[in-house]
Amino acid sequence: MNYSKIIDISIPLTEKTIVYPGNPQIKIEEIKSEASKSIISQITSGSHNGTHIDAPRHAITDAKSIDELPLDIFMGSCRVLDCTGDTSSISRDTLESHSVLNGERILLKTTNSLRGFDEFHPDFVYLSPEGAEYLAAAGAILVGIDYLSIKQKDSQDNRPHTLLLEKDIPIIEGIDLSQVEPGEYILVAFPLKYVGIDGAPARVVLLK
Ligand SMILES: [Zn+2]
Repeated sequence: MNYSKIIDISIPLTEKTIVYPGNPQIKIEEIKSEASKSIISQITSGSHNGTHIDAPRHAITDAKSIDELPLDIFMGSCRVLDCTGDTSSISRDTLESHSVLNGERILLKTTNSLRGFDEFHPDFVYLSPEGAEYLAAAGAILVGIDYLSIKQKDSQDNRPHTLLLEKDIPIIEGIDLSQVEPGEYILVAFPLKYVGIDGAPARVVLLK
């Protein structure tokens, strides 16, 4: 594999990291062991904090958990699509204009990345249900978006999750694409091996 740089698109994890409203905050407590003279940290977090990957079980009962997805989905060629022209939701038209191919890993760059992750913006750009339908039908094998959720805040329409997850297409949420030009990269995004659950944090990088 040839590459000249690694671009880290993960959000830093601290107690100040923004979390989706209603999700548990991150808590990190340093514990010093007098006996062993070593330091460990007790970490408390939700499974959907920071940069993380949604498994099918997040939206579909008894569907695959994060550890049951094949690892080859999470590493390989990917394409970052410029969706910064869509200021409310990413439309089907925008995605069709990029001609998504069968087997592609797709990351959606929106104005969310440009606003940053220092505070929570409830009006974040999300994926429209029609856009999700297109990506699933086109044969994308993984979809990522640069905010903590792929669906509109407070919407009862969960299709942006379900249309992808019912096809075992994992969703990377909470990636920072502010330093990433649209184009082709190698994605490396392995979720932590928590067993049986709905999602897990991941260190997500792009190789160029
Ligand atoms: Zn999630």
